[in-house]
Amino acid sequence: MEIYILGAGAIGSLFGGLLARTGAEVLLIGRDPHIRSIKERGLIIKGIVNEEIRINATTSIPKEKPDLIILSTKAYSTEDALKSAKDIVKETWVLSIQNGIGNEDKVLRFGGKAIGGITTNGAILKEPGVVEWRGKGITIIGLYPQGHDEFIGEIAELFNKAGLETHITNNIIGWIWAKAIVNSAINTIGSILEIKNGVIKDNQYLLSAAMEVIKEGCRIALKNGIEFEVPPMELFFQTLEQTKDNYNSTLQDLWRGKRTEIDYINGKIVEYGRYVNLEAPLNSLLWALIKAKEELRSNVRWEGK
Ligand code: NAP
Repeated sequence: MEIYILGAGAIGSLFGGLLARTGAEVLLIGRDPHIRSIKERGLIIKGIVNEEIRINATTSIPKEKPDLIILSTKAYSTEDALKSAKDIVKETWVLSIQNGIGNEDKVLRFGGKAIGGITTNGAILKEPGVVEWRGKGITIIGLYPQGHDEFIGEIAELFNKAGLETHITNNIIGWIWAKAIVNSAINTIGSILEIKNGVIKDNQYLLSAAMEVIKEGCRIALKNGIEFEVPPMELFFQTLEQTKDNYNSTLQDLWRGKRTEIDYINGKIVEYGRYVNLEAPLNSLLWALIKAKEELRSNVRWEGK
């Protein structure tokens, strides 16, 4: 299978590198200095596996279409990335493994055949050309918004062969919303207080506040016709347990002085509330506090955690 990774940063390079080991023809599309380093000395994956992988990499969009494009930019870069690749996206399968609500809708708007995905794998870019696979998780993929196609079975088989545990669902939109709802509580509360996820579980005030945020997100999702295979409240408790020693990704972005994906998490929940005449005061407040923190980020130091 020929695969382009559009937005080869931390998670995209990890997926691309592991898929290349199976013999798939993978091209990483990203930015220098990461891409330059991969061209010079290959992609280095550390952590759960330790490998140097020879893999094709470029900073420009090829003219030829692949069998599959894996979209792995941050959610705020989705539109620009799809625009730059619009000629190859049209009528091509595009799988998003991003966080946030709305990425797949953009793929559909650009004429792509959208596959939704969520992944609980954890990766960071240690330095240009070097990715650390920090946490082995699972990936769930499915035809977006719902349904199935044989090709999705082929992708899952390839991912599993690559060592990326992958499951198929007929209701990926439900999983995307469920993950966003869980993140809407953990990432915001964890970022405002700058605490590890486990603290939310162990503190009665934070736990009850977070549960109210989850309930608000669920009410809005259900009124928008979203159904869940696993209730977000259950996923919330699972996530707290599995990631109790981690700082969430929004907080890590803030510490690094980077933009967060909050507009595509709490921001989208508020927006979808408006479509069905439901207010989302908790999500609105948390969204505003994170936006304020983004603006004030010069006061927040990255401490290498
Ligand atoms: P990342 O390291 O910032 O990777 C994204 C990469 O895409 C960056 O190198 C970025 O370059 C590049 N990019 C942006 N626009 C591009 C374009 N038009 N063409 C080519 N490259 C472009 O982010 P990440 O941590 O991998 O996360 C990506 C997505 O996956 C996010 O939605 C995140 O929430 C989700 N996710 C991540 C993990 C994880 O463990 N990392 C786990 C699950 C889900 P610039 O920085 O120069 O813009």
